[in-house]
Amino acid sequence: MISIPLFSPWRRALCWFAFVLVWAAPGAVHAQPVAPASNALARQIVADPKFRAAVGVYDRDFDRFVAELIKLTEIPAPPFGEEPRARAYLAMLKDAGLEGVEMDAEGNVMGLWRGKSGGAVPLLAVAAHLDTVFPAGTDVKVKRQGTRLIAPGIGDDTRGLAFMLALIRAMREAKVETAGDILFIGNVGEEGPGDLRGMRYLFTKGPWKDKIKRFITVDGGNLDMVTNSGLGSLRYKVTFKGPGGHSWGAFGNVSPAFAMGDAMARLGQVKVPKSPKVSYNVGVVSGGTSVNSIPFETAMEIDMRAVDPTALKDMDAKFKAIVAEAVDGENATRSTMNGKITVDIKLIGNRPSGTTPPDSPVLRQVAATMGVFDKVPVWETNSTDANMPISLGIPAFAIARSSANKGGRAHSLDEWVDVEKTQAVKDFELAAALILSIAELP
Ligand SMILES: [Zn+2]
Repeated sequence: MISIPLFSPWRRALCWFAFVLVWAAPGAVHAQPVAPASNALARQIVADPKFRAAVGVYDRDFDRFVAELIKLTEIPAPPFGEEPRARAYLAMLKDAGLEGVEMDAEGNVMGLWRGKSGGAVPLLAVAAHLDTVFPAGTDVKVKRQGTRLIAPGIGDDTRGLAFMLALIRAMREAKVETAGDILFIGNVGEEGPGDLRGMRYLFTKGPWKDKIKRFITVDGGNLDMVTNSGLGSLRYKVTFKGPGGHSWGAFGNVSPAFAMGDAMARLGQVKVPKSPKVSYNVGVVSGGTSVNSIPFETAMEIDMRAVDPTALKDMDAKFKAIVAEAVDGENATRSTMNGKITVDIKLIGNRPSGTTPPDSPVLRQVAATMGVFDKVPVWETNSTDANMPISLGIPAFAIARSSANKGGRAHSLDEWVDVEKTQAVKDFELAAALILSIAELP
């Protein structure tokens, strides 16, 4: 007999296994997390001859999907340099037959698929991001090895963009009907420096603000995983300034180096919860001019993350208090005769956090639809475009653009996707069913 200590990974795995068994049992009713909604809707969608026909169109036109994936990948789209790709994508959305195709003031491109409810069903937005992490000048020529395509950004998230075009065309040709309208979006600013600018504009400023009621981003690498929690982060550049001076002659005067060192040491002592996890990091330190000078300026770049927005707020407050204490401490410890230490805390990144609960109607439907494909969603925490709507209380999540073993090395120069058709058609079917089932929800 194997004894299993409390809280061991084995015990957790067993509990999870037992839970999945019970949860997946037909008719099971559980309060936490809730059993999937009736999967009748999903079954109906998947069995609909028009849906079958749409899958057939994707299969028939698969070479076009691959050609468009290559075409889009080979248009560089570094952060803040997405425009050429956005213009090309805008033309492709128009060609796919969407209504009112436009580019907004931030550079997002979008167009509307009309549902038959005349706006009675809440508007669903489906997005993939235009930007890649790769700087201008990166070689983005696609290389081919069998069914494998290799190029920076080809998976994350160009495959999502190409998938949306193929889906829209397949729906159109097969005359698929949806209850709700669907706004399809190629958005800017998902990756690091973009700081979710595309989504921030869409949800807080642009013409679609307050209109989008559900949101899906096609931006993941594993079909079993659904990102329903947005990992929030706050990033700062903290600059300490002082009078500076000669290391010997001005000895005894305040120093930004000591203030910053004190702040870093204090930050390193902060105890944070392990679950839900909170993290902090000093990623870049800089400053000073020579070994025999008291610096007049030092700086550090900080990154703090949490799933729980309250925890991130707490961490933020602690961090700011620590910086203030360190500055006051230095000003009290040494002479301020030639000037005091001052500090400037500049926000350089702000990704809001939050969770779409698995027992919300939208995610219950996701579980039900995945159930039709014999899948149980694994709820994930990530930083994606869904962070922004989630933080505003709009049900949102990220789904995969292809299955786990069909792509890899995202954010590296040898990023790859597999375009083996049989698997790609299966992946398409699941993603299409997920999107279409949410477009039916009242
Ligand atoms: Zn991505």
